[in-house]
Amino acid sequence: MTIKVIVAGFKGRMGSTALDMVKGDSELELVALLDPFAAEKEVNGVPVFTDKTDLVGFDADVWVDFTMPAVAYENTHFALENGFAPVVGTTGFTPEQINDLIGLSVDKKLGGLIAPNFAIGAILLMEFAAKASKYFPDVEIIELHHDKKKDAPSGTAIKTAELISQVRESKKQGAADETESLAGARGAEFDGMRIHSVRLPGLVAHQEVIFGAQGEGLTLRHDSYDRSSFMSGVNLGIKEVVKRDQLVYGLEKLL
Ligand code: NAP
Repeated sequence: MTIKVIVAGFKGRMGSTALDMVKGDSELELVALLDPFAAEKEVNGVPVFTDKTDLVGFDADVWVDFTMPAVAYENTHFALENGFAPVVGTTGFTPEQINDLIGLSVDKKLGGLIAPNFAIGAILLMEFAAKASKYFPDVEIIELHHDKKKDAPSGTAIKTAELISQVRESKKQGAADETESLAGARGAEFDGMRIHSVRLPGLVAHQEVIFGAQGEGLTLRHDSYDRSSFMSGVNLGIKEVVKRDQLVYGLEKLL
């Protein structure tokens, strides 16, 4: 039995890479594509939809979403309401939205995954960073992405900060009397630590977590050089969510 997959955002950078991955796996079947601005009616025999409500009642198992932060919640809610287990890479969810979607998945007895990062190396980086923060509570996160990225900081940076704050004793970093002569110079604040977002052409998705302590420093870095780095995680997500009955936040929950 193949797993029937819908790809939302199939014309985008991530969505088109996911489409190729699904087509290349004989255990998966690409059954529908969604993009509100698509002009084509089909791609190699796979129907293209421009309005998600036309997918109500459609025969599919999994909804892969690489769209835009502004529609991520609405799309994931729609997928769960309509019996499609969501595998969502789109970023920009609030903690309340994630909790709400987990609750809906429990009601619907559907598996699902919201993963701010599908690269295995990035998952390990987050895990190592959380571990190190127990011993190095002074930490700054620098995330670096291509200049078409719409949200800042990245979902991965927020997730990293969340994982760190579960381990690190809450601490406001920097000098108590520090001031910014240019607004934003110290980056965004999360539980007393700082997050900095770099946007440059040529980059894909990169993150450094820098720790400092008396007389020593530790830097962890992960680089996605190519969007294919995310696809083994998306593939794993698709194959796992169909076996489960609750949505999870973070690929590490499925590993
Ligand atoms: P992108 O190239 O801009 O692609 C997004 C695509 O979604 C566009 O083709 C867009 O169409 C389309 N779209 C917009 N609204 C839609 C809707 N309501 N339904 C279906 N499709 C819609 O962006 P990207 O670089 O692929 O990134 C997509 C998302 O994935 C972002 O949130 C990004 O942060 C995230 N991301 C996640 C990971 C991960 O590992 N989790 C990795 C990389 C990126 P138009 O261009 O015509 O508006």
